[in-house]
Amino acid sequence: MIGAQTRAQVRERAQNACEYCHLHQDDSPLAALHVEHIIPKIHSGSDDIDNLAVACIACNPHKGTTLTGIDPETNKITELFHPRRQAWKDHFEWQGIYLAGKTATGRTTIRVLNINSEDQVALRSS
Ligand SMILES: [Zn+2]
Repeated sequence: MIGAQTRAQVRERAQNACEYCHLHQDDSPLAALHVEHIIPKIHSGSDDIDNLAVACIACNPHKGTTLTGIDPETNKITELFHPRRQAWKDHFEWQGIYLAGKTATGRTTIRVLNINSEDQVALRSS
C-alpha cells in the first residue's frame, strides 16, 4: 500500500510529469497520472519511494508488469528504463513531437510503452 503522503512526494519529485514520456499533469486534464512500481510487486518490487515513479495513463498500462522488451535495432532482450537508477537524458531525446531512443534501453522502452502512439503524439502536438 502506498500512502497519500508518499504519493504526493513521488509526484513532487517528478514535477508532476510522467517519468517515461514526460507528459505533464496539466496536459492530462481528464486523468490523474499514476504512481507506479518501477519493479512491479509481482517481481517483489517494494513500496519504497526508490521503487516508485510517476507514469501517465498511456505509459503505465503498457508497462504493466513488464521488466524488459526487445530492442527494435538489435533484437536483443533489454531492460526497460529505470527512472531512479538511470538518467532520462542519457536514453531519450525529442525529435520534434516524437521521442527517440539514444540507447537500447531508450528504444526498447519507447517500443514497449508505445510512447509514440497516435494518441500520445496527438496530445503533444495540441
Ligand atoms: Zn507517459
